[in-house]
Amino acid sequence: KPVRDRQRLPVVPQGICREDFLKALDDLRQQIGGEYVSVNDRPLVDGWYMEHPNTHDMMTILDEEEFVASAVVYPGSTEDVQSIVRWANKWLVPIFPISMGRNLGYGGAAPRVRGSVTIDLGRRMNAILDINPEDYTCLVEPGVSFYGLYEELGKRGLQEHMWVDTPDLGGGSIIGNTVDRGVGYTPYGDHWACHSGLEVVLPTGEIIRTGMGALPGSNTWQAFPYGFGPYSDGIFSQSNFGIVTKMGMTLMPNPGGHESFMYTFQNEEDLAPLMEIIRPLRISQILENVAQLRHVTQAIAARGLPRTSFYSSSSSSPSVPITPEEIHAAAAKTPVGDHTWAYYGMSYGPPHIRSYKLAIIDAEFHKIPGCKKIDPSTLPEDEYFFSRDNIAAGVPDFHELRWCNWRPNGGHIAFSPVSPIRGADATKLFQLGKEIHERYKIDFFPAFCVGLREMHLIVEIVFDRDDADEKKRALACLRDMVDEAAKQGYGEYRTHLVLMDQVAGTYGFNDGALGKFNEKLKDALDPNSILAPGRCGIWGQRYRGRGWEM
Ligand code: FAD
Repeated sequence: KPVRDRQRLPVVPQGICREDFLKALDDLRQQIGGEYVSVNDRPLVDGWYMEHPNTHDMMTILDEEEFVASAVVYPGSTEDVQSIVRWANKWLVPIFPISMGRNLGYGGAAPRVRGSVTIDLGRRMNAILDINPEDYTCLVEPGVSFYGLYEELGKRGLQEHMWVDTPDLGGGSIIGNTVDRGVGYTPYGDHWACHSGLEVVLPTGEIIRTGMGALPGSNTWQAFPYGFGPYSDGIFSQSNFGIVTKMGMTLMPNPGGHESFMYTFQNEEDLAPLMEIIRPLRISQILENVAQLRHVTQAIAARGLPRTSFYSSSSSSPSVPITPEEIHAAAAKTPVGDHTWAYYGMSYGPPHIRSYKLAIIDAEFHKIPGCKKIDPSTLPEDEYFFSRDNIAAGVPDFHELRWCNWRPNGGHIAFSPVSPIRGADATKLFQLGKEIHERYKIDFFPAFCVGLREMHLIVEIVFDRDDADEKKRALACLRDMVDEAAKQGYGEYRTHLVLMDQVAGTYGFNDGALGKFNEKLKDALDPNSILAPGRCGIWGQRYRGRGWEM
């Protein structure tokens, strides 16, 4: 039989015997329909981005059997989601919702507790419920991807009218990305800030609508996010307090023109003065989008070739990092050349508005000696610049996947601390990452994503999924970066399943008061601790103190 068809003994969640678990699954089949419940009893095939698994993390840093689902259920409606939640409470089975499961770098589709039943919301709940061209808003279900919405705007003749903000890869779910507080690269790049209104199934099965959605007959759900009273949306992002079944999103009006630009800067030390220039321009919106300042190593990796193509024979081992000389020799074939940093940005509006802003940017950036502006007309068509150009104009793209080829069987995991947009902070975080990568002999891929008043440093570690030693070094490197960053006052904006307890622990002000508050909420909302136990370091009472944290 092909590997895909062979059987594997399904995992059973802890706390229930195999016999009862099989009975529970029969009960679930009766409620949702037999064809919509599948047991995870086949080999764990990783597939690729477009055919990703929904049972485990296709880029796992641990053993694949560690964070693995016992079964997957496919609800077709909010009522189905309610039934699944009630079923989980009856049988005390952990459940883990995903919208599409493409959370690569942060755990993919995997549940935190082994043997959880995954609720794959996106497979059947994938309707665009509303697109409002007057208010520039939409209302979507979990299975609507950035690509899906973009294509639908095209079908309705609205692509020129309004833009979808997309992350680097457009195949993720708008809801999945937003509830994990993901980012895109137009002025609407802070997805959580741009959403308006949620429908949520609580862990005990009730449905709530937040903001104006709580007022029957209101036509303002997607236009005013707050409604009246406490603003409850926040507790449904990066948490395990509810399952989002609908979400409103605001869309960007076509600005009437746009123009990408790219500048390179020569020296590693240019980072600090450059950040001092970027901050006031970004806060005053002369630099308008969530732009990226990327290190030259990424310019090479974005070509999609394995690291061995750039190596001399002595350094072809995965535990010998690429040298600065090799990096620059390889970069000679990219527009970054012998420079170290590349800034990708976009200016919006009609030509006269753009030229006003672009002139200021040009004058400011040229205060860094050696700064170069790259003329896009000199670049080949498949140059990475054009992928950034698409994304900053709301056109989904896949080019970014290419750097996963840096290692054979490339998986990746991210370290993503936040700081103000300041030279001193950028330098400290850059040095911290660099030194710890050197400690573990890992190639260093830093990129700063500049928000409005803060920036995320995104450091991706690319590893061979079949190389146990590489994975071990990658994880140790991440753990050290998280701890050492926290000691210097920096915390992660988002993290992988395997690091959630550690990262949550770094937010420890006043003897962990925030964590305790989250536990109180968890126990009140989810008395049986069935929903995504451990997600974001929040464990319900049935799990606490029993050795689940890692
Ligand atoms: P899902 O995997 O469905 O959801 C993410 C998590 O949110 C789930 O694990 C679950 O815990 C929770 N969740 C999902 N749906 C619900 C729900 N309905 N109710 C309650 N909880 C829910 N990400 C960015 O943000 N920006 C980037 O620029 C970016 N670039 C990337 C580049 C590369 C090369 C790769 C490989 C990844 C990148 N990512 C980026 C990470 C990731 O691919 C995206 O964030 C992706 O959109 C997340 O996957 P998803 O949308 O399928 O979400």
